Amino acid sequence: MSYDDNNIFARILRGEIPCKKVFEDDHVLAFHDINPLAPVHVLVIPKGAYVSMNDFTATASEAEIAALFRAVGKIAAELGVAEDGWRMLANIGGNGHQEVPHLHIHIFGGRKLGHMLPQH
Ligand code: 5GP
Repeated sequence: MSYDDNNIFARILRGEIPCKKVFEDDHVLAFHDINPLAPVHVLVIPKGAYVSMNDFTATASEAEIAALFRAVGKIAAELGVAEDGWRMLANIGGNGHQEVPHLHIHIFGGRKLGHMLPQH
């Protein structure tokens, strides 16, 4: 799938749409989800134009990949969920129910999150 420059996260990255930012560095932006599913629900995105984990892991630089995962750990700690436990999740493509076609890692925490997936 080719990258859509007008997806909502591309527009957030360009500053066309506001976000509640929690972290930013050269490669990464993180902000609160607009429709939180847990007391803590933050989205961590690379600044580069990657549709999903498919193209990110295939084509992103080592620096971009390291920055994204370092940021996830750092943000979870800063949000205060590291000690009690939390979840990271990336939906990918159709079967993964990805809604926004710019790679994002969800960070969920602040309550017991239950089983990983519904049973069916
Ligand atoms: P997906 O289903 O693609 O993994 O998750 C997309 C997420 O983006 C959803 O949790 C949704 O609430 C969030 N989202 C969609 N539009 C916006 C927006 O404009 N701002 C923010 N902060 N989150 C958004």
